[in-house]
Amino acid sequence: MSCLFCKIIAGEIPSSKVYEDEDLYAFRDIDPKAPTHILVIPKKHLSSMNDLDEESVLIVSKAFLILKKLATDEGIDKSGYRVVVNTLKDGGQSVEHLHFHLLGGRSLSWPPG
Ligand code: 5GP
Ligand code: ZN
Repeated sequence: MSCLFCKIIAGEIPSSKVYEDEDLYAFRDIDPKAPTHILVIPKKHLSSMNDLDEESVLIVSKAFLILKKLATDEGIDKSGYRVVVNTLKDGGQSVEHLHFHLLGGRSLSWPPG
């Protein structure tokens, strides 16, 4: 298995875990872009948004509930936060395992660069 995030899920690469269930794994980004920067990933390997189908999208809805819970746990639910899914080259995706960035704890600019 060559995927970095699959290795993190398997515990082959250490990570700062904040949540895990049978479908999802969440951990702190190694290079945080905001005071809160958590990555939520499906345990099933999907390379990008482009791999989503009728079945795997059910895990995405579950991921959003966990993102909401983590925002509350981090104390950023009232101040606000952003969920980001970078996709392929123009989207700025660097790891080809679908992941949701949870960013907050500071004011985030818009539009993105
Ligand atoms: P992308 O650029 O693909 O949207 O996001 C990938 C994210 O994974 C980046 O924010 C990057 O800092 C993070 N990342 C890359 N390698 C590791 C790692 O080994 N551990 C952790 N915790 N995060 C990583
Ligand atoms: Zn993977």
